[in-house]
Amino acid sequence: MQLTNRSKVVVQKEMTMAEQIYLPAIFKGMMITISHFFKKKPTINYPEVKRPIAPVYRGQHVLKRDEQGRENCTACGLCAVACPAEAITMTAAERKRGEESLYREEKYASVYEINMLRCIFCGLCEEACPKEAIFLTDRIVKVGTERDTFIYGKDKLVEGIAADQRIDVGKRGGAHRKF
Ligand code: SF4
Ligand code: SF4
Repeated sequence: MQLTNRSKVVVQKEMTMAEQIYLPAIFKGMMITISHFFKKKPTINYPEVKRPIAPVYRGQHVLKRDEQGRENCTACGLCAVACPAEAITMTAAERKRGEESLYREEKYASVYEINMLRCIFCGLCEEACPKEAIFLTDRIVKVGTERDTFIYGKDKLVEGIAADQRIDVGKRGGAHRKF
């Protein structure tokens, strides 16, 4: 009794002369290869050439500063609690006298790290932040060959103070955003 109607009886036929010399098969294979030369390339020369990405693309995070250049983050830890991948770690510190121009709140993150190998770019840290301090941007996280290079600290996350170093997070369709 047949277990399925898809079964096929395999017959070992004698090879014809053409099959024995393999030339028609080689020619057929070459034609397939040559036909690919005239097709549109599915790959691009990244990073020189970049594909357009969706306006809502969520890429590398930025820690924002306010209009006066002070860090917004107050090290409340809500982003770390919200993170399903446990990718965020931080150390809180008290702002000292004279540091009012560096940190907006009395408490700030002296260390703030995101493990980009753990991050799934869900955006929950951004949603959880009450201080508009952390946003995901349209920047793509750089490739690397060492695991350590994927731990992004404040040196890579906090935006620069100068106007031309600010990261525009409004590009991700966030017209409601202030920065
Ligand atoms: S984007 Fe998601 S996974 Fe990545 S750090 Fe934020 S909350 Fe965690
Ligand atoms: S980024 Fe936002 S949620 Fe995370 S610690 Fe800083 S202020 Fe809190």
